[in-house]
Amino acid sequence: MVLTLALSKGRILDDTLPLLAGLGIVPEVDPESSRKLVLGTNHPDLRLLVLRAQDVPTFVEHGAADLGVAGKDVLMEHGAAGLYEPLDLGIARCRIMVAARADAPPIVGRPRVATKYPMIARRHFAAKGVQVEVIKLYGSMELAPLVGLADRIVDLVDTGKTLEANGLVEVEHIADISSRLVVNKASMKMKHAAVRDLISRLAGAVGAEHGRPRRAAVGSV
Ligand code: AMP
Repeated sequence: MVLTLALSKGRILDDTLPLLAGLGIVPEVDPESSRKLVLGTNHPDLRLLVLRAQDVPTFVEHGAADLGVAGKDVLMEHGAAGLYEPLDLGIARCRIMVAARADAPPIVGRPRVATKYPMIARRHFAAKGVQVEVIKLYGSMELAPLVGLADRIVDLVDTGKTLEANGLVEVEHIADISSRLVVNKASMKMKHAAVRDLISRLAGAVGAEHGRPRRAAVGSV
């Protein structure tokens, strides 16, 4: 039975490949340099898809991939109601924050919030009873407050160096982020043994890396 695992390009791929290598799973070609989007592995029953991070939940939800690795940020933004999220892989850790210019005045009226994450931003401010104008950007969110495009940004922060370099400060913590293994609900039933086997091997590898088991119960996102 062939399993298809969808991986996110970029930081998550960099962190996922060593995890797979630890299980003895190696892509047939280097996904960083190859233009192939479907990669076989040294295991004939496992193939990899290399996707834009935002597309991973969609492929898994529709069954085009049985499993996927996606950031919690992407899952929160997507909604990901049709997926199981059985395992926190503990990789690509960061946090999603509200940030502002260090000299920004307090919010009055309807602030403009620049972000790649309109759903997360709207939900966060709505929960505080604050109506915002969301300005959707695809990158360089940190620039928006510097040129008067936005009063706040909602973005991922890791070391905080990018904020600091641009005179911005963290003002609110929205959520801690790490990469999660997600599973198509039908695959969990129809390919149960193979899916369970991969989940438990990944759980073992993640536990070994962190010095303790990190396997969580199967549940919805
Ligand atoms: P840093 O300067 O280390 O706080 O990193 C911040 C920059 O890296 C921002 O542009 C973020 O969007 C990006 N970033 C931080 N962590 C991650 C992550 N886990 N995945 C993807 N992008 C990230």
